Amino acid sequence: MSIRLMNEPGVPAMYPEDLGADPGRSATVPAAAPDSTSMSSAAAPAAPYPRSAPCSQPASYPRSATYPRPASEAEIRELAALPLDELKALARKTADAVHGDRVLLRGLIEVTNHCAMDCLYCGIRRSNSGAVRYRLSHEELAETIRAGRRAGFMTFVLQGGEDPALAGEGLLRLTETARAAAGPEAAITLSFGIRSRREYEELRAAGADRYLMRFETSDPELHRYLRGGISLKRRLKALEDVRAAGLQLGSGFMTGLPGETDETLIQNILLAQSLKMEMGGVGPFIPHPETPLGGARGGDLERSIRATALLRLAVPLCHIPATTAAGTIHPEGREQMLEAGANVLMPNITPVLHKKHYLLYPGKICIDESGFQCVGCLSVRVMGRGLRLSWERGDAL
Ligand code: SF4
Repeated sequence: MSIRLMNEPGVPAMYPEDLGADPGRSATVPAAAPDSTSMSSAAAPAAPYPRSAPCSQPASYPRSATYPRPASEAEIRELAALPLDELKALARKTADAVHGDRVLLRGLIEVTNHCAMDCLYCGIRRSNSGAVRYRLSHEELAETIRAGRRAGFMTFVLQGGEDPALAGEGLLRLTETARAAAGPEAAITLSFGIRSRREYEELRAAGADRYLMRFETSDPELHRYLRGGISLKRRLKALEDVRAAGLQLGSGFMTGLPGETDETLIQNILLAQSLKMEMGGVGPFIPHPETPLGGARGGDLERSIRATALLRLAVPLCHIPATTAAGTIHPEGREQMLEAGANVLMPNITPVLHKKHYLLYPGKICIDESGFQCVGCLSVRVMGRGLRLSWERGDAL
């Protein structure tokens, strides 16, 4: 094929000049409706958390390096038509050029499965009365993070539903607890849904470094249908606010949603590219029996692998996890995502007592053992693909 994405003679380098290496750069986000929930967008409050604290970002990610350029739309369409093995090989080659053989470890902590929202696909949606609800106490969270630091984790991803108890001050206090337990060196990532720009600014001041919020689908009608009337524009406005607040930005989407087409997948990739996101997750849709979509057909592994590979080629610098959902639908799902260019694994270090209740989808793997035990297993899986686990903090490139 004719596509040349690597730095071959005659191919102009687009990093860092094009996508840039400045985490504070502004994203090109489609125009959004006015944010009625947003408070003042005045300057961010002064950050008490010491931003100048030394981080463990190694010199092995040279900021001045010339990286493979992002694929253009025409190239993405051409790449999407390739046989899977060919596509994976191109994506892995790009991942190797940018991220080397390292697979970053992030400690995932599922803080709460309470949610005020009612997304049609989600097992912890408000209307699922069968879900056993929990919320970690501050002490449980702090102890989990301290255990993670002792084990070597340098990034903690705190995830939860849109829990009314964590509105406003609730999440701020939780972030302060997390920061105190993690110390100044480790990264704190939050994923708690839509908030106002001012809230994102306050969370950053309280110690958050990054924020994850998947857009799930680029199809506005499908988004509105799946998310109980919430528009895609509203979601994208929130992502813009995350960026404006100075947080590193993560997003992503599902594959195999009911009503999704091949063109949806292409548009998902293009939207991910336009967001210039620094972290991006792809997961297959897995129907949960206690949801309105319980009888739908789920996403298959190949589509998720294709999406991962295309994402790698469209956004080479992005940190892309090999997701648990892929490991749930296939025993080697995560390994295949690594082969397709993923460079992150997220062991679930939520206390074992609770993790079995954070069931966005059924059959979730690794819920009966501690995430700390998972690291050994993951190391073997990664080495089997010629890669190695890394405890680096793994900030945005
Ligand atoms: S997808 Fe997120 S916002 Fe929607 S119901 Fe589930 S936890 Fe809540």
